[in-house]
Order: sequence, then C-alpha cells, then structure tokens
Amino acid sequence: MTTDYYAVLGVPRDASEEEIKKAYRKLAMKYHPDVATEEGAAEKFKQIGEAYEVLSDQQKRSLYDRGGDPMSQSGMPGFNGFGGGFDFTTIVDAMFGSGMGGSRGPRSRVARGQDRLERVSLKLVEAAFGVTEDLTIDSMVVCSTCGGSGAADGTKPVTCRTCQGRGEVTQVQRSFIGDIRTASPCPQCRGYGTIIEHPCPDCYSEGRVRVKRTVTVKVPAGVTTGNRIRLESQGDVGTGGGPAGDLYIELSVQDHEVFARRGDDLETTLEVPMTAAALGAELQVMTLDSEREDCDPENQTVTVTIPAGTQTGARMVTRGMGVPKLRGRGRGDLAVTVMVVTPTGLDETQRELLNQLAAARGEDGPIRPTSSKGFFGRLKDAFS
Ligand SMILES: [Zn+2]
Ligand SMILES: [Zn+2]
Repeated sequence: MTTDYYAVLGVPRDASEEEIKKAYRKLAMKYHPDVATEEGAAEKFKQIGEAYEVLSDQQKRSLYDRGGDPMSQSGMPGFNGFGGGFDFTTIVDAMFGSGMGGSRGPRSRVARGQDRLERVSLKLVEAAFGVTEDLTIDSMVVCSTCGGSGAADGTKPVTCRTCQGRGEVTQVQRSFIGDIRTASPCPQCRGYGTIIEHPCPDCYSEGRVRVKRTVTVKVPAGVTTGNRIRLESQGDVGTGGGPAGDLYIELSVQDHEVFARRGDDLETTLEVPMTAAALGAELQVMTLDSEREDCDPENQTVTVTIPAGTQTGARMVTRGMGVPKLRGRGRGDLAVTVMVVTPTGLDETQRELLNQLAAARGEDGPIRPTSSKGFFGRLKDAFS
C-alpha cells in the first residue's frame, strides 16, 4: 500500500519545493530518534524520510502524482528507457513523448482516487452565520482485509507469464521502411505485469471498498449558492490503496419565507396599518439573527422608525443587520419595504370615524384625477 506522502508531510498537493523542504525539516527534527520520546516516532521518522525522498525529487513526485509507486523499483522512470537497444517504437516514443520520460513498463495497480462532489442544501440562517454539518457519504476507502494490495491473506501478486511482467506485448509488422513494432497492454494482466491469482474476498482485488462514512464540514459564514468547499483527501481512495482524491461540497441556499437575499443585504416587506403609516410609529422587526440558536437577545429584533405620512414603497435600511461578508469584515444591511394596508371589515363606529376624518380633510367629495401629482402622474413625468 502506498502512503499519502503529502499527508505525511502535512503539505498541500500543489506545495512548492521550498514548502516541502521546510515541512520535512520541521518534522524530521521533531521525530528524530535522538530527540523524540513518543511511541512510534521511529516509524514516523522513516515515513517522513520516505515522503521527502519522493516529493523532493521532481521525477518521482510526478510519477507519484500520476498514481505510480516510486518506491517500487519496477515503476522507476529511466530504469528501462533505452536499455534494450533501439527499436522503432522506442524512437517514436522518445520523439512523441508517450509513456513517462521515455520509460516503459507495467502500470501501477496503485492509482490516485477520484474527487467527489456532494451537494448540501442550507437554510438561509446557516449560510449567513455558518454551520458545522455532519454528512454521511458513500465513499471508497482502503480495504482493511488486504490493506490495499488486493491479494488474499498470505498471497502476493505473481509475475504475468504472458508478458513476463512487462505489462505489454509487442507485435512486429514488416513495412518498406523496416520492421514496425507496436506495443499494446498485455491482455492477460491488463498491463499490470502481475496477476492476482487469489483475490482478496472483500474487495475482489481492487484494494478498496465502498463504505458509508461521516464527514464533518465547517461551512463559513456568508456563503451563497454555488460556493464550493474543498476537503483535501476526503474523496475516494484510489485502486490498490492509492491516495484519496478530494471531496468538494457544493452549497445551495434555500429560499426564506420572510427574507430575500441580494448579495450581503437582506430585503423584507412589512405590512403597516394605514393609521400607523399616517401617524408614524416604531416597529419591531424580527431579524434573521433571531433564528440562530446562540442569538444575542439584543439582535432578536431591530427597531424601524416609520415617520408620520409614510407611503407604500418607502424603504427603511438598518445598517449591519444583513449577511456577514464571506470575504472581509462586516455585514450587509437589512432593508424593510413598507406596504400600507387599507383597513377592511369596518364596524359602525370605525366607519363613522373615517367618515368624519374624510369630511374634515375635504376628501368626501368626488376625486378628480391630477395630471402632475399622484403616483401615476409622477410615473408619467419620469418617462417624459
Ligand atoms: Zn481487499
Ligand atoms: Zn501480462
């Protein structure tokens, strides 16, 4: 089984040579047998050395990245390149760069695993303020029965007799420029060079099995639909116990009953009785914060002042009560749009009061359309 060398050194897969060197020095100092006292330090020190040997060598690292095992001599590039004398295929390969650096040989059973994508649907309050979710996912992990080798207990893959372990078979065709050799993967071992005669009963020689497991995802505050979170090496383990791919969590945010989100701002509409709109009022508006379990009592509501004579469509903005910004500091705003509600179902007394009000304001006669004032008048002005 191949270890995840990046994980051993604690560096990302795209780490620079300098980062790798630094990480190695730090760990080597910590786990050096002369200084380390903890159990297993010697084993860890050996692993660190091995990881550094591969990742600090560009050729080995590139082979490892492609799923090869640089610590097994058969996969070493350059060992069997031009060794067996020139033939047409070798020259063509060297010119067109098939294979790796001109080297040939059986392909490794160890491959890097696939990246996985999981989708997570969040409530608006979770997207706004962040949440830690436990996800149950189906993924490939190293088969514990065979440790990733794919071979049944106590057995080993044997050299393929068809290709003698080379992983490929060659055919020779005569042509006017000479013999043309074409190589193709060995059909017997599918190019591996070895055959698992006694496959592991649990993974059928794959070296990995599918299981359900739980992954904890920390969603930061301020995310929105389409954002992705990358969890390194949490994807599928590769065949032969190869390093795992990454796990991507794609987020989508559910619509909210009350709040619409525009960027980092929250918008809501508030119905205000005609009397309050006419006389002015202070309104207590529930915030998105109020849905948080750990909400500060002060943030449960905000007070929105409606001045006397407020019309439908008036917009009141409370700064800093929107969604926290994903990048940078601070929060967006909370905007409340007023909708004045005309009273319905009037009783005798209320009708009488409104009649009196209408008479006092001279609004009890016929209403003449105004061309330059009023809503439609202003609308017309705006377009002319
Ligand atoms: Zn197995
Ligand atoms: Zn073969």
